[in-house]
Amino acid sequence: MDGTLTERRDLVGLTRAELAAELARIGLPAFRAGQVWHWIYHRGARDFEEMTTLAKPLRAELARSFAISRPNEAQRQDSADGTRKWLLRFADGREAETVYIPEEDRGALCMSSQVGCVLTCAFCHTGTQRLVRNLTASEIVGQMLVARDAYGEWPSPREARMLSNIVMMGMGEPLYNYDNVAKALTILMDNEGVAISRRRITLSTAGVVPMIERVGEELRVKLAVSLHAVTDELRDELVPINRKYPIAELLAACRAYPGAKNARRITFEYVMLKGVNDSPADARALVRLIAGIPAKLNLIPFNPWPGAPFECSTDAAIAAFAAIVNKAGYSAPVRTPRGRDIMAACGQLRSASERMRTSAAAAV
Ligand code: SAH
Repeated sequence: MDGTLTERRDLVGLTRAELAAELARIGLPAFRAGQVWHWIYHRGARDFEEMTTLAKPLRAELARSFAISRPNEAQRQDSADGTRKWLLRFADGREAETVYIPEEDRGALCMSSQVGCVLTCAFCHTGTQRLVRNLTASEIVGQMLVARDAYGEWPSPREARMLSNIVMMGMGEPLYNYDNVAKALTILMDNEGVAISRRRITLSTAGVVPMIERVGEELRVKLAVSLHAVTDELRDELVPINRKYPIAELLAACRAYPGAKNARRITFEYVMLKGVNDSPADARALVRLIAGIPAKLNLIPFNPWPGAPFECSTDAAIAAFAAIVNKAGYSAPVRTPRGRDIMAACGQLRSASERMRTSAAAAV
């Protein structure tokens, strides 16, 4: 690679204040940061040459000092149902996946926060891959930029967007990489850029209890909690972080979640595992547990992966479970699995870091 290229500072992933500070280093006044921000996040510029409201010499000067980076698209797969999965490769060769899930008049981008994961949830494919590293704010924002490029959503459409929502539900535990996730989401929410409102962003956690309050206070996005079991005994096995932060503590944090009013109901995710957590008694216990929390349920049919030690509950068991939860006054849609044919559904992501590992081992 060209030496000058690697020295150029990446502008993607900087807050507005940081961007202004970077530009000030080469003597540019603050209003230039506003212009550059607009080009990167509203217009989708990938190159300073595109910034036609700046004089040519200024563009050249910016290009000498800075870069506007994108992760590389290592692979792209399209599902028969319209779901699209990207395997993105970052500057150091590490990889993570991002999934676009279209709905009728909108769509969500399911973004990753880490390469691999430390949580080792028993039913999750990503959990069989050890944590490699956190993603940087630039790499998290970059997932959205790549998707916007692919669907041609530049300049940021005011309405009728394909990429209307964000779910932080890809690989990794976002609350173990809070600072970068928070920075990335703040950038993506900025009104003069990608402009995705906090009401259209959902952050999912397996239950990093001490961080939950900050999500509500600082980011004010919607919260989803991967509950999956109604007893500590079972949850300890399925979602091992439960040994550190058991159900009672997790639910206390949910009860205290700032703004958990009806408009910002907490979503409890519950993976349906045949014969493990899917009985009517489980459903009744679930309803008792979450009593008093403005909540909805998201029943996720288990998505299989090679070697998984579980099976998906039967349709009848899922319907019976949903009926009990519904009757107690909670909305409990059963999530239709999307993108299973390309291993893009919940819990199926596992970057080809497997491959990375093999090649790293070969290199030793
Ligand atoms: N670490 C965060 C973000 C991952 S979100 C969290 O745990 O919430 C992905 C969601 O898919 C979580 O609710 C996860 O528990 C669920 N999931 C994982 N593996 C799954 C599988 N095989 N089938 C269905 N859902 C799964």
